Amino acid sequence: MNRTLRKEYLAALGLDSWVLRKPASASPVGAVANGAIEPVVGADVARESAFDWPELRARVAACTRCGLSATRTQTVFGVGDSNADWLIVGEAPGAEEDRDGEPFVGRAGQLLNAMLRAVGLAREQVYIANVLKCRPPQNRDPAGAETVECMPFLERQIALLRPKIMLAVGRIAAQNLLRTDLPLGRLRQQVHAFGASHVPLVVTYHPAYLLRSPADKRKAWEDLKFAREVFARG
Ligand code: SF4
Repeated sequence: MNRTLRKEYLAALGLDSWVLRKPASASPVGAVANGAIEPVVGADVARESAFDWPELRARVAACTRCGLSATRTQTVFGVGDSNADWLIVGEAPGAEEDRDGEPFVGRAGQLLNAMLRAVGLAREQVYIANVLKCRPPQNRDPAGAETVECMPFLERQIALLRPKIMLAVGRIAAQNLLRTDLPLGRLRQQVHAFGASHVPLVVTYHPAYLLRSPADKRKAWEDLKFAREVFARG
């Protein structure tokens, strides 16, 4: 990416005065977090494990496993390149996502796009999905039973996609993917391992949070650079 373009993207992040630094030689890339726990493999996963992309999408669209099916406008399956190296995982659809059927639209989506572009990624190059495929009313946190019912869909998406790196945005996504209750601040800036194939997973802030707390955009930028280093090192 040329310097002008990067400056433009950093400006969109509110980081136009930020100076890029070389990666630290003592980067913790390659370490596996102690708190990382592999996802539960149970009956639900077995049920989804044979689905291909079209069938999985159809199953999600028709799903009534939890009460959110009664209040959603539509399910929000995921979007992007089904051969992508990068998988971005958020929490759940909001009002605009519920209306449009696509994750990360609206202002939070625009900020996510800017965050991705800041590390040289177009939205179309990655795959974007949420832990929950239906919107919780009033954007409340997902209930435990809802994530239990819905996670097998995301786990199957991950199995089909086989990403080289995962970026969990926000506390809810990070805690559910890593099966931990550690706060987001303790999950950032380290490489976790997701699943039996140990997909590298990096945690950062949710763009909706960054819109409310722009002072943390610099930390998010550090996380994105860190994720880029992890990906580059394979
Ligand atoms: S949130 Fe997930 S489990 Fe619940 S109805 Fe929607 S797709 Fe099904």
